[in-house]
Amino acid sequence: MEEELKRLLGLVELKREQATRYPHQLSGGELQRAVIARAIALEPALLICDEPTSMLDVSTQASIVHLLKKLQQDISCALLFITHDKGLARVVGDRTAVMFAGQIVEEGRGVLDRPYHPFTRRLTSSPDSDSLLSSEPRGTKVSGSCVYYQFCPEKTEKCLLSPEMKEYKDRRVRCHNVSHA
Ligand code: SF4
Repeated sequence: MEEELKRLLGLVELKREQATRYPHQLSGGELQRAVIARAIALEPALLICDEPTSMLDVSTQASIVHLLKKLQQDISCALLFITHDKGLARVVGDRTAVMFAGQIVEEGRGVLDRPYHPFTRRLTSSPDSDSLLSSEPRGTKVSGSCVYYQFCPEKTEKCLLSPEMKEYKDRRVRCHNVSHA
């Protein structure tokens, strides 16, 4: 038991003495390390990290991202990193999946650098993701249509039917226009 605790603390770079503290006695970064230690105790094949750095300052964010990338190698687990931060997504992601209204619209490598889907292109060209949708005019929602239909400047009649995810070049894209390009 003590050996396992020592191993886990070593993996997340916490000191033995820090394991005896209460949560309110730890900093934000230390708390995240403790949470990560608990998550990897079961030796998962996949670690799902939902906005793991959103409450941290920039330098602590960098150290947690570095730790997660290191753990990926050390314990051979896959990371699913969920974030609204495009800069962070560029740094951590080997493959990127872009979601709109609960659907993945584009997935693959280099998605944020060479976007094909209209929403991903809009997302990557906007400096502020949060104001992106609120600033767009909303059209009428059409049942069964493409999930981006209300907002898309490139929509055509065929977009009234929801597109399927299709292979396109080095990735998968959910758009009638892209898959037929
Ligand atoms: S399927 Fe049509 S509405 Fe949907 S993203 Fe593509 S062009 Fe736009």
